[in-house]
Amino acid sequence: MNWVTLLGAVFDGLRPFLPLLVGIAAFLTVLRFPMPGRGPGRQGRDPWRSFKFAARRRVVERAGGRCEATSFLVWGRCNQDAVEVDHVYPWSRGGATIVSNGQALCRHHNRAKSSWPPPWWYIGLLERRRRGYFPADEDVRVSAAMTDADRAARAGWAARKSD
Ligand SMILES: [Zn+2]
Repeated sequence: MNWVTLLGAVFDGLRPFLPLLVGIAAFLTVLRFPMPGRGPGRQGRDPWRSFKFAARRRVVERAGGRCEATSFLVWGRCNQDAVEVDHVYPWSRGGATIVSNGQALCRHHNRAKSSWPPPWWYIGLLERRRRGYFPADEDVRVSAAMTDADRAARAGWAARKSD
């Protein structure tokens, strides 16, 4: 048996499983899909790498000082104190350092975070949890794109050197 017939035999053996393999590939693709309209778009990297000033405080305060991650896989909410403010859409992938792209995390969840853009179900679950603990006047929606209001707030902090 040469390698061509061996390859043919392997392929024939796999053939019945082809629909299953295609199905798994499609499922994984859907799982990784981002939520439309929430990403950074085509803006470049934000020169501000980390959350500071009023933006940092507000992300922690609206979370009640508690970590916003889940307690187990997709369930519950972590019960640890928030010690870090992290980007929902990673900074390295164009996510801006703005309140609408921030989340409060404990030390453990900040270390465990992914550097990939979050998929649609991650955003959906985060926003759903937030409806349970955000103050009424806070928008639960994640958005990684910088707005004019974000720029204006920044200019104010820079002028005062802090806030
Ligand atoms: Zn946590």
